[in-house]
Amino acid sequence: MSEEQVSPVKRSVLVTGGNRGIGRAIAEAFVAQGDAVAVTTRSGEAPEGAYGVACELTDPASVDAAFKATEEHQGAPEVLVANAGITRDTLLLRMSEDDWSQVIETNLTGSFRLVKRASRTMLRARKGRIVLVSSVVGLLGSPGQVNYAASKAGLVGMARSLTRELGGRGITTNVVAPGYVETDMTAGLPEEQQASYKQQIPLQRFASPAEVASVVTWLASDGAAYVTGAVIPVDGGLGMGH
Ligand code: NDP
Repeated sequence: MSEEQVSPVKRSVLVTGGNRGIGRAIAEAFVAQGDAVAVTTRSGEAPEGAYGVACELTDPASVDAAFKATEEHQGAPEVLVANAGITRDTLLLRMSEDDWSQVIETNLTGSFRLVKRASRTMLRARKGRIVLVSSVVGLLGSPGQVNYAASKAGLVGMARSLTRELGGRGITTNVVAPGYVETDMTAGLPEEQQASYKQQIPLQRFASPAEVASVVTWLASDGAAYVTGAVIPVDGGLGMGH
């Protein structure tokens, strides 16, 4: 085989929450560009061409098992996308300890477990791409989302610390901060509320999951090799200025 005919090496990519919503679109985008993609599926199915691994982020043993399954199937992840997340929205005075801790445990502590486990093999390989899916709300704040906004702002501090800690070993860590995206998470919002949000968005519409996915695949591409510690908004201009 001549040098030109050598097919590019597939990278091992792990995306959490790949059975639906933004995670599914991210997984599909990596599959489309020829990467070997594993997705965590707490429920539902992996998209076509991706390998499903069971994972419950609130259980450290389950996170470890998901990495082991991925490593056996396609090698240690060179790209980690920590996407899975939840909301438990309610105003502060009604927010229970459980509403708070479930969101922090899933969105923030879950991401800690993922990056800690992924960095083990990335450090050895001296390369890796970590992308954390935060939210415009983490920087802008939002009434009724004290728990969620705190978890998503926490990811920014986590990513910037990882950038300083892991950067010297060829690992980049970035945050994507979507605005409103058309998924199950926003489908439950009443029509009038959706219309009012759209008025505040300069592009006057919600994003499609694919529009978030294209930014994530770019951050994992060679073209983004010198981008790290960045918070990239994908919010139609909603959070401009922070
Ligand atoms: P969805 O609600 O559509 O999907 C959430 C995903 O996370 C599902 O795959 C779900 O699995 C998984 N998940 C939730 N909890 C756990 C857990 N404890 N362990 C393992 N997996 C879990 O969300 P979106 O696609 O809308 O959002 C994806 C990410 O993007 C989230 O982090 C969210 O905060 C963020 N985001 C979303 C925005 C939006 O407007 N939609 C805006 C800004 C940020 P299962 O199907 O089993 O429940």
